[in-house]
Amino acid sequence: MDRKAHVMIIPYPSQGHVGPLMKLAYNLADEGFKVTFVNTESIHTKIMSAIPQEFEEHSLISLVSVPEGLEFNRHGKDRFEEVAERFDHLKNLIEKINRLENDEPITHVIADISVGWALQVSKKMGIKSTAFVPYGSANFALVLQFPKLIEAGIMDVNGIPLKDEFISLSKEIPAWNTNELVWSFHGDQELQKLIFRHFIRETVEYVKISDFLLVNSACELEQSACDLIPNAIPIGPLHASNHFAGNLWPEDSTCLTWLDRQPNGSVIYLAFGSTVVYNKQQFNELAFGLEITGQPFLWVVRSDFTEAEFPDGFLERTANSGKIVKWAPQEKVLAHTSISCFVSHCGWNSTMEGLSMGVPFLCWPYCADQFHNKDTICKNWKVGVGLVPDENGIVTRDEIKGKIEQLVSDKDIKVNSLKLKKMARKSISEGGSSFKNFLSFVEQIKKF
Ligand code: UDP
Repeated sequence: MDRKAHVMIIPYPSQGHVGPLMKLAYNLADEGFKVTFVNTESIHTKIMSAIPQEFEEHSLISLVSVPEGLEFNRHGKDRFEEVAERFDHLKNLIEKINRLENDEPITHVIADISVGWALQVSKKMGIKSTAFVPYGSANFALVLQFPKLIEAGIMDVNGIPLKDEFISLSKEIPAWNTNELVWSFHGDQELQKLIFRHFIRETVEYVKISDFLLVNSACELEQSACDLIPNAIPIGPLHASNHFAGNLWPEDSTCLTWLDRQPNGSVIYLAFGSTVVYNKQQFNELAFGLEITGQPFLWVVRSDFTEAEFPDGFLERTANSGKIVKWAPQEKVLAHTSISCFVSHCGWNSTMEGLSMGVPFLCWPYCADQFHNKDTICKNWKVGVGLVPDENGIVTRDEIKGKIEQLVSDKDIKVNSLKLKKMARKSISEGGSSFKNFLSFVEQIKKF
């Protein structure tokens, strides 16, 4: 029997990180790699209850778990104590696997840049490694610039902006407002400091120690940003195709048969990723906005999306035109011909998925990189419009209705969406830039 190259993949424990790395795991298995996919126990349990039976057993992918603690801990123990524990868990796991499978030991580690410490573990163990960036190249280029931003007095050593101004990296990339950086969080400075300390500060170091740097993007989509990080290898947009998409919640597929019954290009799809939450007032405005728009809608309302109830009578009044699910098979939904537009928080995965399916965006960013993703969608690619909150920070029902009408009647946005879809698809098809990058990466890591 052939000996297989064996890759260990370690995502940060949240949906937007597990998803793209699971897609990468399947792509590597398709190339003949053995893959060990490492999750924390709680994420592992969620995956095992969400994974459809047909995907449960893949002969080349094993899903394993380590104790909690891959993620940053807002109120927890001293950081160094945690890091030492994490190091040991991972080192022990690798040693155990290598003992059990001594003819196919782990030859490569791919770690999410948000758990970059895992790259230090693999380096110490003499195993080659790859850092994986699950967000866009432009935002990553900004992250790599942070020492210069500190030097220039634009922010302090904790990532807190010292000036209210715009940061520009290139004429072609929308500038960042210093209040809307990757590590910004609604002006919550304590949280911002923690995010900066845990996710950003050591990124430059992690990039230095890794042998490869993968990004879930395509050169064609973010050319200027890719030029700023020449050592990065864009291999996206990653797709689930017919594989498991790495969901942490079971998909409700009844929405696909519901979509089959709707007219072509008629349905507003609303989904805000895995972490966005709405207060009662905002939830109500959105519900009423949908109702007065009068178009069919498919709305993902996760069980932890809001503590509010639907407005009185809303479900009855919209029973014929609306479908609400707790979790949708998003890529399949976006590819459905009855979808007209995507009301999105602009998480990077959702952005790549909507773009690859040619669906216009109504952008409603919430935190972190989502603001800049919105700017890229609206200003660079010109495939969407943004919702503007009122003076109290609420996006009103009239704003929602008005912008949906504006978006679906905009012919230029439709044309651009189809153009960008083609571009995104081409990059991952045979001969495309991401396709070639991936194969060349595969060839190189097979050698170890
Ligand atoms: N997603 C899904 N079904 C849903 C909502 C979201 O499959 O009902 C997936 C979506 O396809 C995407 C991921 O969840 O791959 C969310 O990642 P993103 O980066 O957009 O947002 P985050 O959750 O990190 O904020």
